[in-house]
Amino acid sequence: MTHDELLEWSRRAAEWALDYHNGLRDRPVRAQVAYGDTAAKLPAVAPDAPEPMEQIFADFEATVPNAITHWQHPRFFAYFPANASPASMLAEQLTSAIAAQAMLWQTSPAATEIEQVMVGWLRAALGLSDHFTGTIHDSATTATLSAVLTMRDRATGWRSVEDGLFGGPRLRIYASAQTHSSVDKAARVAGIGQANLVKVPTRADYGMDPDALDAAIRADIAAGHKPAGVVLCTGGTSIGACDPITECLAVAKRHDLYTHVDAAWAGSAMICAEFRDLWGGVDRADSVVFNPHKWLGVQFDCAVQFLADPAPQIRSLGLRPEYLQTLGQDEIVNFNEWTVPLGRRFRALKVWFVLRAYGLDGLRQRIRNHVAWAGELAEAIKQIEGCEIVTGPILSLFTFQFGDDAKTEALLERINDDGRVYLTQTRHEGRFVIRVQVGQFDCTRDDVMTVAEVVSQISRNL
Ligand SMILES: *Cc1c(COP(=O)(O)O)cnc(C)c1O
Repeated sequence: MTHDELLEWSRRAAEWALDYHNGLRDRPVRAQVAYGDTAAKLPAVAPDAPEPMEQIFADFEATVPNAITHWQHPRFFAYFPANASPASMLAEQLTSAIAAQAMLWQTSPAATEIEQVMVGWLRAALGLSDHFTGTIHDSATTATLSAVLTMRDRATGWRSVEDGLFGGPRLRIYASAQTHSSVDKAARVAGIGQANLVKVPTRADYGMDPDALDAAIRADIAAGHKPAGVVLCTGGTSIGACDPITECLAVAKRHDLYTHVDAAWAGSAMICAEFRDLWGGVDRADSVVFNPHKWLGVQFDCAVQFLADPAPQIRSLGLRPEYLQTLGQDEIVNFNEWTVPLGRRFRALKVWFVLRAYGLDGLRQRIRNHVAWAGELAEAIKQIEGCEIVTGPILSLFTFQFGDDAKTEALLERINDDGRVYLTQTRHEGRFVIRVQVGQFDCTRDDVMTVAEVVSQISRNL
């Protein structure tokens, strides 16, 4: 394919995309295919001879759309959203056309500098203190790993950077049981080990108990272990739990521990000042991550990590071999030194497009609607016979049960086979519960209230 042909096919792809998005409400939200169906349609080996694009495109249309769970469907209420606003799609087309490697300032000056400015725009939009700088990762998992690696090396007095962890005391990391599994993964990947990630007990509201944190740290010190850092969460994935940030950070600081706040989902809501109490005190954290690729409409992948001081993370992750030097310029920012991978995409462009195309007011209105509609929906589900709200809305996330575990699971399967809406489950206090989050970029109040209609219809026939 030539670039002239690409123009023609890009038009076709844009027309296809418009039809696809306009037709989403007529499709089942969750893919209704079995494991192996798609692979069975493809030849076992790549073609030797070039094939016509007409045929490739036709095969795409025949193979892909019916075997996709439609994350941009307005009635997607599963997991958390992965919103891709049209403005972010446009930016991604341009990023794809330029296809630059943004590893060094010199390899893409605009990518580095727009990233710096966008981190500043987002910091101000979220109401964070202006001492934070930051960078954009592919995912919150990577940002959290970066913070945990920094905790590890700082706790060893940076000896681990050269010597590894051999011979030192056990490093200990603290988080509540409500934190995301990416924290467990970070502890494993960092060589700290799952057993050294201490799950601190929570209070009645499922936020970490600061006294229990203090006690856990003291017990570890008494046992000869080396506390390294604390990971707190604002808006945990299961039910939206929020740790008391001010109190927990105070404990961490008293023990001179590095701190990271995971607000991957809930962070987007902080563009609305009325929700900021959920992470009150966050300005004292060393590191904070949130995913504009979840609720804000900046399509995957885009995870912003704010850093009170980037120097420790750069000390852990930054390498500057001869072939990556920028001659004559030592003081410029090269973002690969802030992150795990060397290669990096130009992700800031879609942030720039989205923040300008919708404005903060447009984005705030969406989030406020979602939170209000989630509240209305929880009320409506509560009225359905046999349904019990198990955890009430935190922002736009709540959970419910229908009868017992087995009936709830059966209801969930029927709902997702029906296809009008898509919901997923979690386990809370040992109970199987259905999670509902409202956050799809284009959903309407009617889309949201459809959940109550579907639950009511299907539960009646169970
Ligand atoms: C989604 C989520 C993550 C993981 O995000 P990725 O960007 O997919 O790595 C981590 N923490 C929380 C609280 C999340 O909701």
